[in-house]
Amino acid sequence: LTRNQQLMQRRNAAIPRGVGHVHELFIQDGDNATVTDVDGKRYIDFAGGIAVLNTGHRHPKIMAAVQKQLEQFTHTCFQVMAYESYVELAERINARAPGDFAKKTLFLTTGAEAIENAVKIARAHTKRPGIIAFAGGYHGRTSLTMALTGKVAPYKAGFGPFPGSIFHARFPSELRGVTVADALESIEQIFKCDIEPTQVAAIIIEPVQGEGGFNVAPPELLQALRRLCDTHGIILIADEVQTGAGRTGTWFAVEQAGVAPDLITMAKSMAGGFPISAVVGRADIMDAPGPGGLGGTYAGSPLGCAAALAVMDVFEEEKLLERCQKVGAHMRQRLQDMAQQHRQIQDVRGLGAMLAIELFTDGDRSKPDAVLTKAVVTGAAERGLVLLSCGTYGNVIRILVPLTAPDALIDEGLDILQATLAAATA
Ligand code: PMP
Repeated sequence: LTRNQQLMQRRNAAIPRGVGHVHELFIQDGDNATVTDVDGKRYIDFAGGIAVLNTGHRHPKIMAAVQKQLEQFTHTCFQVMAYESYVELAERINARAPGDFAKKTLFLTTGAEAIENAVKIARAHTKRPGIIAFAGGYHGRTSLTMALTGKVAPYKAGFGPFPGSIFHARFPSELRGVTVADALESIEQIFKCDIEPTQVAAIIIEPVQGEGGFNVAPPELLQALRRLCDTHGIILIADEVQTGAGRTGTWFAVEQAGVAPDLITMAKSMAGGFPISAVVGRADIMDAPGPGGLGGTYAGSPLGCAAALAVMDVFEEEKLLERCQKVGAHMRQRLQDMAQQHRQIQDVRGLGAMLAIELFTDGDRSKPDAVLTKAVVTGAAERGLVLLSCGTYGNVIRILVPLTAPDALIDEGLDILQATLAAATA
């Protein structure tokens, strides 16, 4: 047995199967956009630990910032004894978030926790129970965020009952003929059939659905939701856990729609691999919960704060937003070229460097091809490229390559994808 196989045997014996795995691989080390497994094989990393590594593996500046923090202190619990980095990070995120109003930021540890807290804050402020989320959306695996998630298998199946007062609207899809008007009409239906608007605390939306298949919310939808929320006193929450921290070419994806949500959640790439998440929003709304209502033992850990501050510095110093737009445009062109050669690819979509292709059997849009998708993901790994799939039908291949990856490496990865597609469709 290889070292990978030995470790997989131990993993399967010691760890519940509910923790799935995309690749039967164990990492030895990672460096920017490449990883090496325990058998010494090198891979180009197009997964970035699911959208966490916009600044790559072990960026030297982030490592140095965390190293410095390690030598001072690693934990106090911010509610027990505060530290400046938490405050400085909040100030910098407040300054970056869209909207011409005073803002405050709360730090947590995971994406799901950020969303849980955004919902708590929205409910405390509005004194209303209802939440509207979107079909195909993904918000986490905790009880509340699982209920918000708009996909049954594997996230919700067998895990009920779910918290109440949560409803799902339709998410637009050009490919599937769901328009912005259809999506807005589905919210009117919720107001008619399920809950009156005066009882809805928040509407939560991903500006680009991540796990749901890299479905981009049209700017008109985000703008219409902003107006709808203003009309009814509903809080607009943008879940930027996957899109935030520069993945889409702007620090927050909503900036491109010219919309300022009341609350924004972020996590993943904001700290380049260290666990920290955030809720940033209107100061008056953020102040709705009373003292003691928010927080957590590890929430906004010193290591996470140090890493997140370094990530913001790296984005500025290395002009990573500009690089994101450039890399995104180049990758989109190459994916479109692949779509010309393979009719199985019926859509190339995304925003900035958050890009995906959607695969169908023989190019028939009524036949999402999850089998081919899996074959491409597996085949690419054999050729040295780590890829991820996503999508409600499991037929989308997404790219989340570090923005710090050299051009030649990105092209090498795309060459592998192209060769794998050619082999899998031959
Ligand atoms: N929201 C979105 C949009 C996500 O993509 C994710 C993670 N894939 C989450 C929330 C949950 O984040 P976490 O896994 O850190 O709890």
